[in-house]
Amino acid sequence: MAEHTTKFAPRTGGCYCGALRYAVSGQPLVKGQCHCRPCQQFAGGGPQYFELVAPDSFDWTHGTPASFALDDLENAVTRFFCATCGTQVLTRRQDQAALVLKVGTLDDPARFRPHVAICHGDAQAFHMVPDNIPVFDGLPPRG
Ligand SMILES: [Zn+2]
Ligand SMILES: [Zn+2]
Repeated sequence: MAEHTTKFAPRTGGCYCGALRYAVSGQPLVKGQCHCRPCQQFAGGGPQYFELVAPDSFDWTHGTPASFALDDLENAVTRFFCATCGTQVLTRRQDQAALVLKVGTLDDPARFRPHVAICHGDAQAFHMVPDNIPVFDGLPPRG
């Protein structure tokens, strides 16, 4: 049992250059991969791997992120990124309190496994989806 005691210890992460650092505690609410076109643009062509995390479980511990939202799009998401190196760390949707954390910014992303694939209607033929996880053409229905 002892080896599991660190399971819920705060995890840390940050941007490529180190100007932004954060800590996130607790269990992710959702772990998944998103295949939408903006995610492809930000991720270099692939899906983006993300965790939904509760806002009160996330703290910036160093630096202040820049942010951007399209002003001609209803319900545009706000993207939080490093103004120095450009790494995208978080997205916040207007219709949802949970934050969308980009898994690649975690110091130790090795244990991440996606449990759902979303916006797969926009997926490219070269995108990979693990076997036996639910796949949604768009966003999953609200539970
Ligand atoms: Zn940076
Ligand atoms: Zn997406």
